[in-house]
Amino acid sequence: MNSSAKPSARRAVFLSTPALWEHGHGKNHPLKPERLRRTFELLEEYQAFAAPNVQVIAPEPATEEELTLVHSRHYVEVVRILSLGGTWTETREYIQPMRYGFGSGDNPIFPEMYDTESLKAGSSLTGARMLVNDECDVAFSYSGGMHHAMAGYASGFCVFNDPAIAIQWMVNQGLRVAYVDVDVHHGDGVETLFYETDQVLTISLHQDGHTLFPGTGSVTDTGFADGEGYAVNVPLPPFTDDETYLWAFNQVVPPLLERFAADVVVSQLGVDTHFQDPLAHLALTTAGQTALYEAFDALSPRWLALGGGGYNIDVVPRSWTLAFGVMSGQTFPDELPPNYRAHYGGRELRDHTDPGIDDHTRTRVRSKVESIVAEVQKIHHLA
Ligand SMILES: [Zn+2]
Repeated sequence: MNSSAKPSARRAVFLSTPALWEHGHGKNHPLKPERLRRTFELLEEYQAFAAPNVQVIAPEPATEEELTLVHSRHYVEVVRILSLGGTWTETREYIQPMRYGFGSGDNPIFPEMYDTESLKAGSSLTGARMLVNDECDVAFSYSGGMHHAMAGYASGFCVFNDPAIAIQWMVNQGLRVAYVDVDVHHGDGVETLFYETDQVLTISLHQDGHTLFPGTGSVTDTGFADGEGYAVNVPLPPFTDDETYLWAFNQVVPPLLERFAADVVVSQLGVDTHFQDPLAHLALTTAGQTALYEAFDALSPRWLALGGGGYNIDVVPRSWTLAFGVMSGQTFPDELPPNYRAHYGGRELRDHTDPGIDDHTRTRVRSKVESIVAEVQKIHHLA
């Protein structure tokens, strides 16, 4: 059912193991592990992993040492103890879960939390290692992209900040790393962890913080001290669609990446920008998201792609399948494979409906985005 990869196709690694979807945040939580299982199954049904330039690698969990590349040792210990149902540290300190971001609806403590979340971090790190060792040209850690986690607390469904861990590891190998986050939510954790360094460029395009969690990511947040100018934010209004989003991306991201001259581009590919996503209000389709994947493919000398948000279970597997198609140079037929359809329904891989944004809204959003982009260009001395 697959079409074979282009002769020029890059060596692509897909990081996956069933342990990634065996435990999760709970039945009613939007970050359903099933997102990962369905994505894996859809790619398998398309025979995406049979292409000669593709490898599926089962990652190992990140070690405690690796987690402390960005997290405090105390926080890592706290996550381990909470995960086991404990409430006291080894030095007999009582753990107040809320102090570390846990216990809310967003970040429940769940069995195997430490193992599951450190496996996501290990997945992104494995991708980084394979890229640095020249074992592949692109690696997709689709369980990663947990961009809200902070050094000492969990936030927004994120326990360990795998993007930052992978980035810090690569920086320690002497590489220049650019991070581009196209999740609908601001990449606040990654931005904060590298806010004072010029070794990492962070760029986030997101629905603006006035209308969406986590509320940060304004144009004027640009980094601090040595990091001044190395954090870039492009907040977008609700109902921004494919055309306007891609216009903004192309105005800002390629010139910034060219100026920074990164060795590796790390992209957080949250698909909660989709018009049918239940948690946010941008209006992208799989066509717009695929255009983004193609842009990253063209802009990244070496490419560590991460997953991220995306809460419509019918959308996530399709969009990430299209993403891995771009990464590995494969084009999949639009009709979903019969086995997948039999289990999960649906008809086509690509969207055949559009968000139905009326002309008045489109014009209003476009003019707002034009003024935001002009401000970004001015602040960051572009064009
Ligand atoms: Zn998100």
